[in-house]
Amino acid sequence: MVALEPVRLRADYVVPCEGAGRLLAGGVVDIGTDGRIAAVGTERELGPHPNTKPVGGILMPGLVNTHAHTPMTLLRSVGDGLPLQRWLTEAIWPLEAKMTGDDARYGMALGSAEMLLAGVTTSCELYFFEEAIVAAVQETGARVVVTPGVISALAPDGKVEPRIEQIADFYGGHHDPGNRISVGFAPHSIYDLTPQQCAEIGERAQAVGALYHIHLDETRAEREQVMSDWGASGTQLLADYGVLEGRVLAAHGVWLDETDRRLLAEAGAAVAHCPQSNLKLGSGIADVRELLQAGVVVGLGTDGPASNDNLDLWEELRLAPLLARGSLLDPEAMDAIQALDLATRQAAWSLALDDVGQLHAGFWADLIRLDLDVPAFSPFREDTLLTQLVFAGSSRGVTDVWVAGRAVVADRELMTVEVGQLMAECDTRARRMTEG
Ligand SMILES: [Zn+2]
Repeated sequence: MVALEPVRLRADYVVPCEGAGRLLAGGVVDIGTDGRIAAVGTERELGPHPNTKPVGGILMPGLVNTHAHTPMTLLRSVGDGLPLQRWLTEAIWPLEAKMTGDDARYGMALGSAEMLLAGVTTSCELYFFEEAIVAAVQETGARVVVTPGVISALAPDGKVEPRIEQIADFYGGHHDPGNRISVGFAPHSIYDLTPQQCAEIGERAQAVGALYHIHLDETRAEREQVMSDWGASGTQLLADYGVLEGRVLAAHGVWLDETDRRLLAEAGAAVAHCPQSNLKLGSGIADVRELLQAGVVVGLGTDGPASNDNLDLWEELRLAPLLARGSLLDPEAMDAIQALDLATRQAAWSLALDDVGQLHAGFWADLIRLDLDVPAFSPFREDTLLTQLVFAGSSRGVTDVWVAGRAVVADRELMTVEVGQLMAECDTRARRMTEG
């Protein structure tokens, strides 16, 4: 790794996203040679710094996307209008069967570029082709939590043991948070696998303290099927089989009931809230207020680009509070500070990343700069700045992005990979898959 020069970034405002809605006028962020934040505060508090770079605008943590299948950029917008099960079996899986490791690498790199340009510095990937995902992210410079998927429907004879071994090996070879790569385990769902198989994967994840990432209660049909097959909810089964004793991230959680929420909260589990994907597939609206009140950690996610259809987490940041308010008929159901928390601090917790998601001394210097000098922030008012960030802001305001202290986007340009080339490559590959 290239040693960085210690630097101080001086902004008009620093938004540390520590959960309390603090705003530092004339704030600075000091970045050390190790790529971590050395200090956050004001120049008056911290004294002068020999290498100060005035950047203006707003500095805040990079957004954290807790649930994605990014190589599916190659299948963007495929199967629109189908409900989840038909969408998977008729549209998505037949095309994914034609995907190669190289396809996945280009798809991941393109999606990673899309996210970095939007100020999303970390994503959690539930997919196959885990080697390709790591290779792509090493090029783009993003941070990633790779959770290789286990699907019995796609395994020979439904036998998943070889795949579980493969993931355990992959964990041993690639789990390296200091170099931006974390590894977890991802059983697709409890309707595809059996509770016993989910438990077996849970034991392997717990043995190394890895994240356990699973789709849970995304649709009503899925919940009803699990109830009729096993006589209990998916969450109850995960609790009964010991899975919730590990670090669990449940994607969607649209149809959870009160008991499920209590079980998840008691276990310290997290839910990846993907409001836009849930709307697009007609799956429903997760009750985030109930989840948060029960004490469940909640992070926002885009889901894959075939069900969203982009990877711009700013849309979720805005949609989550709007949906909570509209569906509960309560303008106090979620405020801007909470929404930001779900895209940063709680999102990082959801992924078991305890030194990401806040501008805080000792944390990784994963941060973004937004331009304040744009119509969406005009007229400028300090007292409504956080509200403007959520309800008037967008990824269009993101000008600069750093990951582990390294500038990966500068003045709206990606410094690490050639985006035009990636788009051309993905175009050809997507055409081969859909037309071949
Ligand atoms: Zn998903």
